[in-house]
Amino acid sequence: MKQGLILLVLILGACSIDAQELTRQDTLRGSITSERAWWDLNHYDLNVKIEPSKKFISGYNVVRYKVLEEAKTLQIDLQEPMKIESIEQDGKKLKFTSEGNAHFIKLKKKQVPGEFNEVKITYSGQPREAVRAPWDGGFSWKQDKNGNPFVATSCQGLGASVWWPNKDHMYDEVDSMRISITVPKDLMDVSNGQLESVEEIGEFKTYNWVVKNPINNYGVNVNVGNYVHFDEVFEGEKGPLKLVYYVLPENLEKAKKQFVQTPMMLQAFEHWFGPYPFYEDGFKLVEVPYLGMEHQSSVTYGNKFENGYLGRDLSGTGWGLQFDFIIIHEAGHEWFANNITYKDIADMWIHEGFTAYSENLYLDYHFGTKASEAYVVGTRSNIQNDSPIIGPYGVNKSGSGDMYYKGANMLHTLRQLVEDDDKWRQILRGLNKDFYHKTVTTKEIEDYLSKHTGKDLSAFFNQYLRTTMIPTLEYTLEGDTIKFRYTDVVQDFDMPVRVFIDGSEKWLFPNSEWKTEKLDGTQVIFDKNFYIETKKI
Ligand SMILES: [Zn+2]
Repeated sequence: MKQGLILLVLILGACSIDAQELTRQDTLRGSITSERAWWDLNHYDLNVKIEPSKKFISGYNVVRYKVLEEAKTLQIDLQEPMKIESIEQDGKKLKFTSEGNAHFIKLKKKQVPGEFNEVKITYSGQPREAVRAPWDGGFSWKQDKNGNPFVATSCQGLGASVWWPNKDHMYDEVDSMRISITVPKDLMDVSNGQLESVEEIGEFKTYNWVVKNPINNYGVNVNVGNYVHFDEVFEGEKGPLKLVYYVLPENLEKAKKQFVQTPMMLQAFEHWFGPYPFYEDGFKLVEVPYLGMEHQSSVTYGNKFENGYLGRDLSGTGWGLQFDFIIIHEAGHEWFANNITYKDIADMWIHEGFTAYSENLYLDYHFGTKASEAYVVGTRSNIQNDSPIIGPYGVNKSGSGDMYYKGANMLHTLRQLVEDDDKWRQILRGLNKDFYHKTVTTKEIEDYLSKHTGKDLSAFFNQYLRTTMIPTLEYTLEGDTIKFRYTDVVQDFDMPVRVFIDGSEKWLFPNSEWKTEKLDGTQVIFDKNFYIETKKI
């Protein structure tokens, strides 16, 4: 998700988990129920007709799946007020019962492990309208300056079942997808993947998009407008990658200038993270009537064709105005969100922590390490320490908005601990290679980082991901003798820190017990790249 610091804090503040009753609907939506666990997604064939004048959509989704275990009931999610009209398997109508947004299909055919089956769900309705896209999403029914419909979807957290029927849990992804969107014939739809064909039927046109890679549910999107486009080819690590830009006609010239940052982004992120993960599907940047979202291979853009975050620098250092926040941040998600995807939104830091961190790696690549350090350290002023980064599991709830910049500063601190930028880069590339197109848990990422840094990082991650405490290094200094210890730390937290003694680098190895050390000087400066507090007592 695109972060909107102030908005995000307000949203999270307004519905903190403590104040919220968790319901059975939360469990049906957020857990791997027995009606989900027995089948493995293989393919979606989604067909939707969009009628902007009526704010109405209708169509069907054919869900192909592999049977893992014999079962009789299959769960499909579709949120009210959307209505299921019929469900079929092999041409035979099936009965289903509904419990809120979860629908339980009674299968007639014997489900044999190893076999592939399909269910076709036909549906229609006026989908939930986005309240404040993309954070409080749904359909955005807008108009461009000339009065043409300008329509887009966004649904992270809320779930793709807000507008189409699917298995709405992130642990399972289809291996490929076809998205056929029918719109009034003077408009165009831009969805994920490559445009395979366009058919005109009466007053409508159908745009057939094909996605050849696994895709998560909230990444699937439709964008309908009076688009024009331009394109270019990026020569990347895996060969030529087609970049296509869709914008409204009045913004074409501005986009041609601003979007030169797209190949710059690819250069920087392929360097740090490895090849763009979806070469077969191409890369698109698509103008939308909201700020932006990491929709896979069709990243959406609404940052007014200017640098910063709607013109602002989130770091307060000036470096945030050296890049277009939405191009860099949302495209950074192609590696962390779309390639490596959380299984449970409680672990959303895997998307947002790494992607907020990617902003400073972009600066590092194009402007140098000093710029990158200043930026990421500057973003600390956005950290609230209101609640832990990791949220509750199994109920489709995310943790604190601190997953962005506290997450980024945790990773920046880890880069210091590794003390070898080539090795750190290989670890980041290794994550994208070893978890290529996979859904993961925080535990898998934590274990990977411990293994590949050669350090036991369990206390480190417990501290930063599971508490709101910032490690505080208390110290006294008498002449050339320093006494120091950590407070506000979890058990076994013993992260080393780099200090400068009269300008010379030295490492201290604090834990929660007082230690005394003689220094080669009397002036001590703590390296600000470590996300800790220091307190002279
Ligand atoms: Zn994001």
